[in-house]
Amino acid sequence: TTLEDTLLASIRTIPDYPKPGILFRDITTLLGNARAFRRAIDELVHPYVGLKVDKIAGIEARGFILGGAIAHQLSAGFVPIRKKGKLPHETVRVAYSLEYGLDEMEMHKDAVAPGEKVILVDDLIATGGTAEGAVKLLSQMGADIVAACFVIDLPDLGGRRKLENLGVDVRTLIA
Ligand code: IMP
Repeated sequence: TTLEDTLLASIRTIPDYPKPGILFRDITTLLGNARAFRRAIDELVHPYVGLKVDKIAGIEARGFILGGAIAHQLSAGFVPIRKKGKLPHETVRVAYSLEYGLDEMEMHKDAVAPGEKVILVDDLIATGGTAEGAVKLLSQMGADIVAACFVIDLPDLGGRRKLENLGVDVRTLIA
């Protein structure tokens, strides 16, 4: 079976979650499937094996799970990007747009040094508002963003284009 088939078959769709009319793509079933999880991580790291990558930045919370595995494979460090108020040391903070309204996310000020090569990771890109906020934080700290990687793209929502317009290389495994 192709990678795409394996991944598609391992993702569960929940109608009307978290609100009526939304089709939620649930990757907990992908994470729980040893073969699908391994293939997703292998495919995400593939272009970067043998290249210098300093840090993987993962977006709370599913970006932590994927990002930890990717960081290990690439012998890179891991940096958490979290919802506001969760990180204990000095942070940089950015507001980002949600479907309804705004929220804020943070990263530790000393988590990335200027010029470090960083890959941003999350499970899914929809409108791109969340990833755009993370790109802003990393750029503010002088990171060299190698790419932004996602398992799932929801192409109708335009997130990929939003990041590409910021000059970020976007990689997704399935749409
Ligand atoms: P965006 O900011 O509109 O691109 O939404 C992406 C963020 O919301 C990511 O952190 C995703 O984990 C989360 N998200 C949005 N829709 C879904 C979904 O259907 N399944 C899982 N996560 C989702």
